[in-house]
Amino acid sequence: MSNKANSRNIGIVAHIDAGKTTTTERILYFSGVIPSPREVHDGEATMDFMDQEREKGITIAAATIHLFWKMVVEGGVLPSVYEINVIDTPGHVDFTAEVERSLRVLDGAIIVVCSVGGIEAQTETVWRQANKYKVPGIVFVNKMDRSGADFGKVVNDFREKLGVIALPLQCPIGEGADFKGVVDLLLQRAIYWDDSGDGVELVYGNVPEELTGMVDSLRNQLVDKVIELSGSEELLETFLNEGIDAIPVEDLKKHIREAVVNRKIFPVFCGSSLKNKGVKLLLNAVCDYLPSPADSSEVVVKEVDKGCEVKLKRDPKESFTALVFKIKSSRHGRLAYVRLYSGSVNVGEMVYNVRTREKNRISRIVRMYASKEKQIKYVEAGDICAFIGLKQARTGDTLVAVGGKMLVLEPITFPDPVIHLAIEPKKQTDNDRLVYAINELKKEDPTFSVRVEPGTKRLILEGMGELHLHIKIEQIRREFGVETICGFPQVAYKECFTDKSVYRHIHKKQTGGAGQFADLEFELAPSEEPGLVFFNKMKGDGICSSFVEAIKAGFKEAMLEGPLAGYPLVGMQVTLQDGSSHSVDSSQHAFKRAAIDAFRIVSKRTAPMLMEPVTLMEVTIPKVSIGVITGDISKRRGVVLERKETVGDSETFVAHVPHSELFGYVSFLRGKTAGRGNATMEFSHYAKVPSEITDKIVEKRRE
Ligand code: GDP
Repeated sequence: MSNKANSRNIGIVAHIDAGKTTTTERILYFSGVIPSPREVHDGEATMDFMDQEREKGITIAAATIHLFWKMVVEGGVLPSVYEINVIDTPGHVDFTAEVERSLRVLDGAIIVVCSVGGIEAQTETVWRQANKYKVPGIVFVNKMDRSGADFGKVVNDFREKLGVIALPLQCPIGEGADFKGVVDLLLQRAIYWDDSGDGVELVYGNVPEELTGMVDSLRNQLVDKVIELSGSEELLETFLNEGIDAIPVEDLKKHIREAVVNRKIFPVFCGSSLKNKGVKLLLNAVCDYLPSPADSSEVVVKEVDKGCEVKLKRDPKESFTALVFKIKSSRHGRLAYVRLYSGSVNVGEMVYNVRTREKNRISRIVRMYASKEKQIKYVEAGDICAFIGLKQARTGDTLVAVGGKMLVLEPITFPDPVIHLAIEPKKQTDNDRLVYAINELKKEDPTFSVRVEPGTKRLILEGMGELHLHIKIEQIRREFGVETICGFPQVAYKECFTDKSVYRHIHKKQTGGAGQFADLEFELAPSEEPGLVFFNKMKGDGICSSFVEAIKAGFKEAMLEGPLAGYPLVGMQVTLQDGSSHSVDSSQHAFKRAAIDAFRIVSKRTAPMLMEPVTLMEVTIPKVSIGVITGDISKRRGVVLERKETVGDSETFVAHVPHSELFGYVSFLRGKTAGRGNATMEFSHYAKVPSEITDKIVEKRRE
């Protein structure tokens, strides 16, 4: 049994362009996973990034990469080996759902921010997600070599914009073109990179004269905070009686680690990944401060049949529980990436999928080392690996021991798709292959789906953004060899009710043999909650419970097609008030049919309205363009929410804009700003569509 104290399951999260890919590459390079780092060049298209990745055979897109690290110190390396799983978190906002599911299974995160841009909208989004899952983090201020780099400002941004205590454990020696090294505030040593080679070797030295004042002040702030947070009398006494230098570095590290694990502080490091600077020290920090699976002793699970919460020890001796967090096809078959929370499992053993209620044998257990997979025989609580043999498993499934308690780990929630696009094969003979390809991709990505349009019978792809769907189409072409023709991306509208209505419906059919009879009275009303909210307030037992279930199923099906333009309802509330059945002619089928028919009639009386997805956008542009660009935002029915502080001659603002107005926006922005403008977008919420626009959409839909 291995000791999990030296394991780390980490993710790297960042705003797009902050340098996540470059930092990840350097981590893989320094830990010996890949022989050389690749360069990411400015202006590279995101689609190329997928191609390059494939060509290089580097699995940045793999769900996890396993690596080993020995901590670098002055004069060599320490003997202990750390085992690190780097779990992929995509950089583009179209994939926030992916970020969310990885945050769910990792124990700690490296937050990469740009030394010039600081905290941007997407960093805030990721931050909110990390908060939800209570993930501890360390901050890496990257691109210290860029002109305009400002370490102090980024640290302040963390305090001001995110309200967290970001504590520098390093202080940069020079910024921008003068960035030469860092001072380790705990060791009080300067660390430089040997520029004669590839900047990989660390060179230690004394703190430069001109920085001693600043280093002392940062160090005092750091130690003060650590003493305060630790509540340790012993530390305080040593500090008061013997001074700051009398506190052993190891003691400080121990208390910092505790504070990081409990998310009281976020230590800050800096460097330049592109120039190979600071990444080794960052890996040291992962080992020093980020939690190991052994740091959290329990996991909360739900007992399915009883609905109660149970705490499980994260112990290999406990009963086996694991969460499936990603499905990916590989040349060996379907890989189900799992995180084990308790217990252990050997290859060849059976496990039980709580959702499908099926037993499956784990035919192989694999671990990813960049492009290679290595088979292993045994895994235990705290491990992350992939299982082969789980046929029906989906992301979010809980696996338990056969014969063990039926437990579920908190599921992973994903937002609904907001963009649709019609697709068909170029060659009609490719139809089956296209359907197969889509279904395979769907298994891997819970935010990607497909449906058949009722009238036209066309296949409609659904996803989180234009880029998301484009990548899928590209995968269909490259991986499955199917050329396709696609329609324009369309926004996924929804419908909602704004009024309520009561209705009694009698479904009666007599056609020769057994008849059909169902009678129900219900109220249909708006609902703030998504999905169907169903209440049974019937007096008496005119309708038995299996028929009530059939009514519910009928409404669920019916709400997929709203009364206004056939878009699905966001949410609705049905209160069953009365009804009756016939001893011979009533059936589940009759009640389901009755609910669907009744919905079609009465839903028109509930003042239905159209809803559209609204995007939260952060736009950075040269100051001179601000008038034109914000004016254009209003034309697109957008609202500027906030104008941010200006950096140099550029200005940033945040806006809410209906997604339907944003197709091709980034190209438009680049065109208006001589290529300098940039925008990041993420889905924010659904909002009601103004009536004149609703009319146009409805009309078009009916054409
Ligand atoms: P990601 O979108 O967060 O994955 O960012 P990338 O790693 O793709 O980097 C975005 C751009 O910034 C690329 O052009 C990189 O070469 C560049 N970059 C990354 N790290 C650094 C750095 O430390 N210094 C400088 N000057 N550029 C960097």
